[in-house]
Amino acid sequence: MSSFLGDEIVGRISRLAAISETSEQLTRIFLTEEHRAAADLLLSWMRDAGMHVQFDAIGNVCGRYEGERPALPCLMLGSHYDSVREAGKWDGPLGLITAISCVADLHKRERRLPFAIEVIGFADEEGVRFASTLLGSRAVAGTFDERVLDAKDNAGISMRDALFQFGLDPAHIGAAARSRSELLAYIELHIEQGPVLEAQNLPVGVVTAISGATRLAASLTGMAGHAGTVPMLLRRDALAGAAECIVAIEEFCRTDRGGSVGTVGYIHAMPGATNVIPGQVSFTIDLRAVSDAHRNLAVADIVRKIEDIARRRKLLLQVDVTHENRTVPCAPWLKAQVSEAITGEGYRVFELPSGAGHDGMAMIDIADVAMVFVRCRGGISHHPDEHVDVADADAGARVLLRLIENFRPRGTRE
Ligand SMILES: [Zn+2]
Repeated sequence: MSSFLGDEIVGRISRLAAISETSEQLTRIFLTEEHRAAADLLLSWMRDAGMHVQFDAIGNVCGRYEGERPALPCLMLGSHYDSVREAGKWDGPLGLITAISCVADLHKRERRLPFAIEVIGFADEEGVRFASTLLGSRAVAGTFDERVLDAKDNAGISMRDALFQFGLDPAHIGAAARSRSELLAYIELHIEQGPVLEAQNLPVGVVTAISGATRLAASLTGMAGHAGTVPMLLRRDALAGAAECIVAIEEFCRTDRGGSVGTVGYIHAMPGATNVIPGQVSFTIDLRAVSDAHRNLAVADIVRKIEDIARRRKLLLQVDVTHENRTVPCAPWLKAQVSEAITGEGYRVFELPSGAGHDGMAMIDIADVAMVFVRCRGGISHHPDEHVDVADADAGARVLLRLIENFRPRGTRE
């Protein structure tokens, strides 16, 4: 099968992936030498694609391809180019590199559109270094929280100092912010990072919403005791109670018609000895759903269930919300245009939510958002085995290019 832009995209994905802290596995962290080298490479590709480029105050790479006349509002395309540790090479760069290739194709054909196109590579989405995510897109959306400048990395370097050392001035971050009137929409292509499109045998899908998430910290307190002397009926085993809670959470989400997903990803039992009944256990709950209303109901139901378990087992329960992200719905008018582009390329339209977070969560503050997902192998992501077939990268590029060329601004916003 002939590949239109797929080969170029896959080649560039590999070249960018070579810029890594370690040679065997991809690790590219905010405000490092690798960040700089990756930015230089991306900016050179943007220039080759006929864009005016700029490196902004938070370290985002920005390219602008003018429309039929200068200073028109833009359709913004983007994704991130930082990575987690021991990452795959597609998460982030696929969307960014595909967007650059699409603009390069327009440039080659000398095609100008009635709007400008901007491609943006966000410097930090994953939040590995300073434990604060969406730094690049929050700066662009004008919602960057200056307090995170005091956050320190593992080496004790503050973000403020790291920016200075990198040659950026934290006082200028405000200048990276864009206004709603400059943007017609924000569209991001991204690998799915899950197994759904593969199961549907489809190369691309339309994202309905970026699921909101609630994270809870729970602790159960019972009574520690001797594993040999305390009869079973007199025990208050906090770990057995936690186990029952975990299974109840799984069961709730499995049978939840609203399609919530729940995960207990961390558990710690104390005192943690083979011959001691666990007296105290702490664990986390990560709960996501496509609508905020549904997620809030699910959180309330789950808390009620684990309260019942704790009461029955005479355990003391403490539950706290540690993190909450609202759901970001993709704009219906944009989803319709994504669907049209998918149909136009001969694929069946399939809608799915994004369980993972993305830069659109920040961009929604200044623009309507849409996302196109591209199938990945085995649903594997945040792992070196992350893989996208060249034919699927190509399909993604065709859809995105068709979407751009047929893009119709919404006009006046309500
Ligand atoms: Zn990503």
